[in-house]
Amino acid sequence: MKKPVRRVWKVLLGVAAVAVVFLAIGLTAVPVPERTDFGPSLPELRALATSTGEPLPTEFRRIVVGEGVMPDFAVVAGRFLGTRASVYQSHQVHYADGRAVILDTGCDAETLEGNMPGSRFQADNYARLQEVMRRADAIALTHEHFDHSSGIAHSPYFGEIAPRVVMTEEQLHGREPERAGFTPEVVGRLKPLRYERLHLLRPGLVLIKAPGHTPGTQMVYVRLADGREFLLVGDIAWHQDNIRLPRMHPRLVNWFLGEDGAAMANQLRYLHELRKATPELNLVVAHDVEQMAGLLQRGQVQDGLR
Ligand SMILES: [Zn+2]
Repeated sequence: MKKPVRRVWKVLLGVAAVAVVFLAIGLTAVPVPERTDFGPSLPELRALATSTGEPLPTEFRRIVVGEGVMPDFAVVAGRFLGTRASVYQSHQVHYADGRAVILDTGCDAETLEGNMPGSRFQADNYARLQEVMRRADAIALTHEHFDHSSGIAHSPYFGEIAPRVVMTEEQLHGREPERAGFTPEVVGRLKPLRYERLHLLRPGLVLIKAPGHTPGTQMVYVRLADGREFLLVGDIAWHQDNIRLPRMHPRLVNWFLGEDGAAMANQLRYLHELRKATPELNLVVAHDVEQMAGLLQRGQVQDGLR
């Protein structure tokens, strides 16, 4: 009897040792490099954004369609205690002639509840977003995750909005597209956008290819007629601290989400340097409640869609 008992203990100790090593590595972040050659310079973005000579947009708005909570340890590596409020929102860029572009479409109630139990869905605001999407000139996404995209796939007006949805090939064929409602039938009705590196979506709006968090991740640079500038970074960061420090969320999250941590580390260096060199550029981290509160307070962004 003694020998098998000793063997069981050895196995258990082995498993515990592997678990400790796994956690010790998993709770650290892929280091952000000292320098990167990722990404376009701001002068290049400005030049492309204004290249057609057409009028630039005049307003940047946002609406909250849901709220939730994230554990701190999953947001910034090395932080273990506490939680952080997070927000699910959609953005709208307006032109003086009445045209508007929607950037990110949030999440319908069922998808939010099914994937993020305990989140608070804002039904009135989501209904408002859906109404506004019917009149949008274009609808684009920072990336294909359900909390940014299912407002398209599960839209009650899908047939109406489909011709104006601008999703990239990578976004339409990302990991688990059906989780956000992108069944083969839905995907079949959308025309994929194909581009390398940069794409001028509309005057003042430039898409920047940035795979890492997901294969279809892109940043969106926005330049308004009055000179205000924004860079929507989607989920490359979950909080502005990821860019400010710069430090990513832990490797466990990379593994769990299937992220390319090295690519994201380069993007965080790019954003960190951009922020340092151009403090007037408004970075928009998709889920960061505090950052958006500051933008609203300073009058850079208007609340609610119109
Ligand atoms: Zn997200």
